[in-house]
Formats: sequence, C-alpha cells, structure tokens
Amino acid sequence: MKQTTKKRGNAKHEDPVMENFVLRAVRLGSHAVRQRLSYSTGRLTRAAILGAPGSGKGTLSSRLVTDFNFKHVSSGDLLRREIHEESELGQSAAAYIKSGDLVPDTLVVDLVVNNLETSQPFLLDGFPRTIEQAKILDEHVSLNLVLNLEVPEEEIISRLENRRVHVASGRVYHLVWNPPKEEGRDNETGEALIQRPDDTREAIVDRLRNFRELTLPLIDYYDRKGVLLTFKGTESNVIYPEMKTAVEMWSNVEM
Ligand code: ATP
Ligand code: MG
Repeated sequence: MKQTTKKRGNAKHEDPVMENFVLRAVRLGSHAVRQRLSYSTGRLTRAAILGAPGSGKGTLSSRLVTDFNFKHVSSGDLLRREIHEESELGQSAAAYIKSGDLVPDTLVVDLVVNNLETSQPFLLDGFPRTIEQAKILDEHVSLNLVLNLEVPEEEIISRLENRRVHVASGRVYHLVWNPPKEEGRDNETGEALIQRPDDTREAIVDRLRNFRELTLPLIDYYDRKGVLLTFKGTESNVIYPEMKTAVEMWSNVEM
C-alpha cells in the first residue's frame, strides 16, 4: 500500500522516530481527525478506549491516566466494585458478568453516565459497548477522541486465561508476562488477587462473540463522527508509545 508522508504545517516533531509514530497513528485515523490534529490548540479530552475483551484497554488506560491526568472511568471496574461491595446493583449485575453477557443498559448507564464528571478530562474504558449506549452517552456529552485497539483473537484468549486482578484498584497482572512480586498478592497493597470468573474459556468465547456483534459497530459510528484513531498490535509496550504520541499531538501538549 502506498503511503504519503506529507509534513503537517504546525507539527512540532523533529525526532524521526517520534514523527514516524505520529504519522502512523495519524494515518490510521480518519480524515477529520487528521484535520483536527493539525489545528488543535489544547482542549478538554473526552475520550474512550475501544477494543475486544483483553485487548489491553485497562493496561493502556492506566498508562494514559498517569501521563495525561485523565480521570479513568472503567465500567467493568465499577461493576466489579459494586459486586465486591454486595450492593443491590452489584447483585443484579453479577450473573450477567459471570457468564460473559453484557449487563443491561439501565444498570450500566446509571453507574457510568450519571456519575460522569464532564468538566474534567476523562477516559472511558468499557463504555459505551453498544450503539444504544453510545446514543445515550451522546445525549449527555459527545466524545472527541476514541482510541480503537485491534488485537488478534488468539492473543486475547491466552492473555485472559493468564490474567489476575486486584479488584479494589483494577490493577492487572499476567502470570507469565507481568507476574506479581509475591504470588497471588497485589504489589502495592499486598491484598489477594483474583481470577475473574468471566476469564474462563467458556465465558471468553461469549464475550468475544458479544464484542463482534454489539461493540464492533461502534468503530464505524465513531469513525463517521471523525474522532476515531486505530492502533494495531499485540503488545501494549509497543502500542503505548504510539498512542501516547498521538494523544500528545492531539491535545497539543508540548513535547
Ligand atoms: P477487559 O477488561 O479485559 O478489557 P472486558 O472488556 O470484557 O475485558 P470489562 O470491561 O472489565 O471486561 O467488563 C466485564 C464485564 O462487565 C463485561 O463482560 C460485561 O458483562 C460487563 N460490562 C462492562 N461494561 C459494560 C457495558 N458498557 N455494558 C454492558 N455490560 C458491561
Ligand atoms: Mg477492562
């Protein structure tokens, strides 16, 4: 495929490696995003990260949150916290989550949208997950950046089966690639790690099917709005520098 690498007028990147990251990320986005990247002057980020279960949304979000100070709003983490606290909402949601089904919109919307502080920059993770949810969100606030992750399914399955999480913080470990310092314990608090009940092979298959049927249409939905940037790869450590550079450029942060 022939790619053109025309220099943008006000791009501030002199470092060729950095420039390459930016151009790759920007090329993957839509025309409207490319235009905005050129003329942005720093604005409030209202972002979401999209991707299959286990595509690295949580890992990449926590790195973005550290670097950019966004508020991280993960619907899955919020739901798991409700379950952990045995709230009424948590009890209603638990069975859906365990089997790998989506939780009904009414419960999730209540938890995510109605608690969203829209005067601060935020990064939604796991929400919206259906066109219906995206439309409800649009009535409250419109997203101006959607980061889309494309990771092959075989990679995802092995990742999820080896995953362990610290429920209270949402911190994620991988038994092989990122094991905790002490087996079964969170590095920062020393509290017990769990294997999510939906990280079984059976539930994973259902989650991937739901993703394909219900969540994939969102890619087109946000691309049409001109706010989508896509990142492809298998390793968060490789994807992250590209994503960081793209977000820096997008929000016009000096490098
Ligand atoms: P990962 O966290 O590995 O990216 P995931 O995206 O499947 O995987 P979470 O986002 O943590 O996991 O969500 C876990 C479960 O919580 C989902 O399988 C679903 O049951 C429920 N859930 C989370 N967000 C939503 C949502 N926006 N709408 C409906 N159900 C949701
Ligand atoms: Mg998650």
